[in-house]
Amino acid sequence: MKIFNAKTNAVEEVEPIVKSDEQWRAELTPEQYKITRQAGTDAAFAKVCSVPLGADGIYQCVCCGTDLFSFHTKFESETGWPSFFQPISDLNVQLKSDSSFGMDRVEVLCARCGAHLGHVFNDGPPPTGQRFCINTTALKLADEKTR
Ligand SMILES: [Zn+2]
Repeated sequence: MKIFNAKTNAVEEVEPIVKSDEQWRAELTPEQYKITRQAGTDAAFAKVCSVPLGADGIYQCVCCGTDLFSFHTKFESETGWPSFFQPISDLNVQLKSDSSFGMDRVEVLCARCGAHLGHVFNDGPPPTGQRFCINTTALKLADEKTR
């Protein structure tokens, strides 16, 4: 499969990451497991999303390290979850319709390992008008580039 690598700024051919439920449970914290593998949701305003030192920080999948969102696409949505107006590449996220809880929503998953990240809505700011509403628990900040 093809994944965009922010460090090399190139699309790379990689293997999908497939692990058993037991493996994920062993590797992740109970909270990470619940959010990413069982489509859980952080309580609103419950967690503080890390902020990179530079403006070019990259948020990655906490499960597999795939680059997901760039800090410069993050905006304050006042919803209580970190919000982005676009993913780092359409290759790196998978969108899936989700009608759970009686709502028509679009689920956002990590394209490489299938981690549940959050949902995307059409009420975001320009230039895309999209709001990727992502669980802090599903994200980790990539190593800071040295300045
Ligand atoms: Zn992943």
